[in-house]
Amino acid sequence: MSVLPIRIYGDAVLHTPAETVDEITDEIRELVADMYETMAAAPGVGLAAPQVGVGKRMFVYGWEDEHGTEHRGVAINPRLWQAPLVPESFAELEEDEEEGCLSVPGERFELRRSPAVLLEATDLEGKPYELRAEGWLARILQHEYDHLDGVIYVDRLAVPSHKQAFKIMRKRGWNVPGKSWLPGEEKLEG
Ligand code: ZN
Repeated sequence: MSVLPIRIYGDAVLHTPAETVDEITDEIRELVADMYETMAAAPGVGLAAPQVGVGKRMFVYGWEDEHGTEHRGVAINPRLWQAPLVPESFAELEEDEEEGCLSVPGERFELRRSPAVLLEATDLEGKPYELRAEGWLARILQHEYDHLDGVIYVDRLAVPSHKQAFKIMRKRGWNVPGKSWLPGEEKLEG
């Protein structure tokens, strides 16, 4: 197993819809093991294959809720249904709606997400499963699922957060191809 470099916003693979996983091969199993290790090293609560440069429809997640229950898994070829936002959903954003992304490291912005989702996916044994999630886990699943469609959460931000995010990225020299960082190393590469 190894920790993989994480691509930074601007790298083409992050902005391209990923392809279906046709078969769960040893290569896929190894990739998943590396993704778990990379997510733990980052550290993060989710990591999608495009973030480590692989344009495949799969992600891992790992998050401990306030009761100490660990939610951890791999979603291969997932489908996601989101509960619709009702008018009350468009009230002011709150601080606990802050989201971050390992491909925009060190930054967090508030984003409204659907409060509940249903995920259908295949596990590493090729077995289909369903996962119903609310709250933070629902947010994680929406965030990771977005990655498979080439969408990063900062793309969804409303003005003025959107402007602010792109200003910060420009300052850091991001939003250009070929940048990555390796968890465990201090400096950004590329
Ligand atoms: Zn992300």
